[in-house]
Amino acid sequence: MGENMKKMITTFSAVLALVVSTFTFSTVAKSAEFFTIGTGGPTGVYFQTGNAICKMLHKSAIAKEHGRKKGIDKAYRCTAPSTGGSNYNIGQIKEGEFQFGVAQSDWQFHAVNGSSKWEGKQFKGLRAVFSVHNEPFQIWARKKAKVKDFKGLKGKVVNIGNPGSGQRGTMEELMKAMGVDNGYFKSVTELTSSEQVKALCDGKIDAFGYSVGFPNGAMEQAATCGAKALPINLTGGPVQGLIDGADYYASATIPAGTYTGQKKDVTTFGVKATVVTSNAVEADLVYLVVKAVFENFDDFRKQHPAFAPLKKEDMIADGLSAPLHEGAIRYYKEAGLM
Ligand code: GLU
Repeated sequence: MGENMKKMITTFSAVLALVVSTFTFSTVAKSAEFFTIGTGGPTGVYFQTGNAICKMLHKSAIAKEHGRKKGIDKAYRCTAPSTGGSNYNIGQIKEGEFQFGVAQSDWQFHAVNGSSKWEGKQFKGLRAVFSVHNEPFQIWARKKAKVKDFKGLKGKVVNIGNPGSGQRGTMEELMKAMGVDNGYFKSVTELTSSEQVKALCDGKIDAFGYSVGFPNGAMEQAATCGAKALPINLTGGPVQGLIDGADYYASATIPAGTYTGQKKDVTTFGVKATVVTSNAVEADLVYLVVKAVFENFDDFRKQHPAFAPLKKEDMIADGLSAPLHEGAIRYYKEAGLM
């Protein structure tokens, strides 16, 4: 090979290298970063919560991509698939599979403290982002089962929920407080939240326990087939002990008229739905997620009727037992909320 030829090849390679690196750099800079928010069953409120958060984030992202001043610089893309619920979500965040998840306040507490189902599996890196709607714990029974209260579930077929769901965990805590185990019932099923209403209306189960926000479409379906949410006796009873012993529980009421045929308030205990993440998730991302929700707050609240009563001040204080993520704190301080 002649000297000239060698020179040409070297120059060509150098140019090629430059082109390749420029190209790679620009694709990396422009490519979107994907992250996942774990939710719950497709007919629940968590699914709507996760997707509402994604919608707010995409709204902010698109604003900037379309040349508006407001919005975010980096292209983040968010997905919020349906999942097994609270404990499943926290587990996936711990594994680094999900970056965020919706979880009940009781399971947020137990995961970060290593208590109850999280004994021996403590997740110290769990971080709170904000809380969302109230989730009264509801026991729905079909009409023909003739059940009036928890004690009436003796000898009945009861859905305790799928493993990994918050509903399953809280049902088990309630059973413990009431001093019963699965043997108290005729049999138990482990149906998911999206399967249980049909099973109830078809008479395959007599009742199910479910912690979910209201009003909720699936519960309205149960009410339409004649099922009712049972009151859970609080005053002086064992459930009062549950509430008194823990910040993550509170008394809760589903007001009369929420569902078809519901003539009275249904009193029970309940939890908060919360959004959680991990200390391994970058602060910039958490900051942007919080900012997207809080700066599009009116729109966010319209995404589900259970969000109507939300107030920013409550969302950064109620039901959060894990430390707030630093990215969330950054936004709350900047917005004068903290
Ligand atoms: N609280 C339920 C759970 O953690 C989910 C409720 C919902 O999907 O809205 O399993």
